[in-house]
Amino acid sequence: MKCPKCSGLMYVERLSDFFVIFHVWKCINCGALIDKTILENQKRSLPPIEALKTVSKTK
Ligand SMILES: [Zn+2]
Repeated sequence: MKCPKCSGLMYVERLSDFFVIFHVWKCINCGALIDKTILENQKRSLPPIEALKTVSKTK
């Protein structure tokens, strides 16, 4: 796993929010956090080309 911002090395860090424990990727270089749910949301979202078309129509 490489950091999308700086291509640095990332490691899994365990975070806990009261009852919920979740794991995030953390970059040791720039400290960027990537949640697994964020990655899944990006996959589910519209492809970049479709998103651009939608934006251009609204303008
Ligand atoms: Zn980074």
